[in-house]
Amino acid sequence: MEASAGADHPHGEQSDTHGDLLMAPEQMLDLARRAAELLVERNESLSADDAWDGEFREGLAPVLAGEPPEEGRPAAEVLERAAREILPYAARLDHPRSFGFVPTSPTWPGVLADFMAAGYTINVATWLTASGPSQVELAVIDWFRRWLGYPEEAAGLFTSGGSAASVDAFVAGREAAGNPERATVYMSDQSHVALRRAAMIIGVPPESVRTIPTDDEFRLDMDALRRAVADDRAAGFNPIIVSANAGATATGAIDPLEAMADYCESEGIWLHVDAAYGGFAVVTEEGSGLLRGIERADSIGLDAHKWFFQPYEAGCLLVKDASTLQDVFGIRPDILQDTIWGANHPNFADRGIQISRSFRALKVWMSVQVFGMAAFRRAVSRGMELATRAEAYVRASPVLEVMSPASLGVICFRVKPEDSAMTEEAIEQANRNVLARVFWEEPALMSSTMLRGTFSLRLCILNHTTTWDDVRETLEAIERFGREAIAAP
Ligand SMILES: *Cc1c(COP(=O)(O)O)cnc(C)c1O
Repeated sequence: MEASAGADHPHGEQSDTHGDLLMAPEQMLDLARRAAELLVERNESLSADDAWDGEFREGLAPVLAGEPPEEGRPAAEVLERAAREILPYAARLDHPRSFGFVPTSPTWPGVLADFMAAGYTINVATWLTASGPSQVELAVIDWFRRWLGYPEEAAGLFTSGGSAASVDAFVAGREAAGNPERATVYMSDQSHVALRRAAMIIGVPPESVRTIPTDDEFRLDMDALRRAVADDRAAGFNPIIVSANAGATATGAIDPLEAMADYCESEGIWLHVDAAYGGFAVVTEEGSGLLRGIERADSIGLDAHKWFFQPYEAGCLLVKDASTLQDVFGIRPDILQDTIWGANHPNFADRGIQISRSFRALKVWMSVQVFGMAAFRRAVSRGMELATRAEAYVRASPVLEVMSPASLGVICFRVKPEDSAMTEEAIEQANRNVLARVFWEEPALMSSTMLRGTFSLRLCILNHTTTWDDVRETLEAIERFGREAIAAP
């Protein structure tokens, strides 16, 4: 749009600012080429670098704070600054030894898809604004639907991540229950905080979220769930949602999905399955066996930015019955009245909390087109295999002990005490020391968690470039540090 020009311009002269924010095609290409070069160089040197780098605020703020410049600077210089002064100071989550938290390891077509989608200025709010992209989002959601074993009437949408997916799911669950007063929500003591937050967002306060205990393998205890629901009903509460884990973040634990589905069906309670990190195991034979029953849930959240090798953000929610989302979120404002093309042309803005939406499905679509599903299946299997091998290594180690067995690419363990006289406090301190030494002295990034109050080291092995040597050498370092930590308390 032309900027208005005239007498009221601060400089009192005719001004035509058209084009101030444009670049010449040659310069665009040069910059894009340079950006691509920087990324490819970074990826080439990735495994030789450490999995983590970072800096304290005192170090960063002097370089990266201050007023924005009034006049622009040379673009190549700005790009180099980003590549030199900003982007390296972060965890390299796609490093082959990035085992902390839940990492991702994006494929290049996925990265380029984000670039293309941004460059084409795609807004997947409505069919009218984005028919091709909407069709691809439908198609990719349909892949996920079939992998999960959901029926034809199932539908879904891409979200920023698992947190947003659980909010959308919980809103649908609450409305399906008729939005009753004194609503209660159930989840295990291993459930992700995102689910507690989702409950709070839909108006179920923390004191109405029932934390159900888990068994030896951190799976929700069905009897405890039955008792909690029965007690709540007797006390006048209205149970509306049960949330199951299909890959709890700390341990990879999978709740008894079939039993939970049976129970929720008989009680008329919405069953959500949080499969944010673990869900894509369904593309493998082993994983789909482990997650059997997931297809009976009313809603499933899963993150392609975890175990499906995509850049952030690529969360996803599927519901078994499309109308449960559409009835809740399909509010048609007058401003969008031109976009209603009927049921066969869904507007993704009618399925969740976002109206303007980036085209996240493209990254999944492009990377699967390029590599094919066989490669994705192998890549997902690899994480499970490596975690199982890590478990065997830990079991055979004189220094380490398993805290939770390998499940969906996650294993928890710790350095064990040499003699039984060592206090729990001293064992924890020794393990914290080991974690710190891995952090500062090893190229690997590992994190820890508390399992029923006990400090535990944890490896999450999901990266498609990770080799057994990466895992073994990290475990060897942990053993080495462990011996020293235990010997010198
Ligand atoms: C990561 C994760 C979440 C939260 O998802 P975000 O994408 O980080 O919002 C929820 N549940 C589980 C099991 C997760 O692993």
